[in-house]
Amino acid sequence: MIFSNGSPVKTTPDRLNTVIAKLRERGCRITPQRVAILKIFLNSQAHPSVEQVYEQVKGNFPTTSLATVYKTVHLLTEIGEILQIGSAAGGNRYDGNKPYPHPHLICTTCKTIIDPKLRLVEQFTTEVAKTSGYRIVSHQLDFFGICPECQKK
Ligand SMILES: [Zn+2]
Ligand SMILES: [Zn+2]
Repeated sequence: MIFSNGSPVKTTPDRLNTVIAKLRERGCRITPQRVAILKIFLNSQAHPSVEQVYEQVKGNFPTTSLATVYKTVHLLTEIGEILQIGSAAGGNRYDGNKPYPHPHLICTTCKTIIDPKLRLVEQFTTEVAKTSGYRIVSHQLDFFGICPECQKK
């Protein structure tokens, strides 16, 4: 299990190919639309919603349906290559760039979501495991606030 908080990862062609291979293994048909959807989710650090990705893909592939984007998210969730951000964030926001558990910072005004740099998450996890006897497999840690841009308004 990776609990790293490293800086945002630029998705390598390798990761895209790995994800495509995993989907193929499940009998999933890889269309150019689906590759476009995958690329957006895997490269975006903006934690997009399904609708936002749909709007982006539609530019190049006008026949894409919202259902296809939902289906792709569902498949990515099943193979552990995308992280759904806690429903406290309004649901429907995803991180396909860093699919492992990590904290999020959510602006309650403009709904921007970023990955705050935190060094203590690993320590938290170790402490929770030690004091409870649980083997920790995941966590959800969301912070809410008002971003600097919104504070200016
Ligand atoms: Zn804001
Ligand atoms: Zn994130």
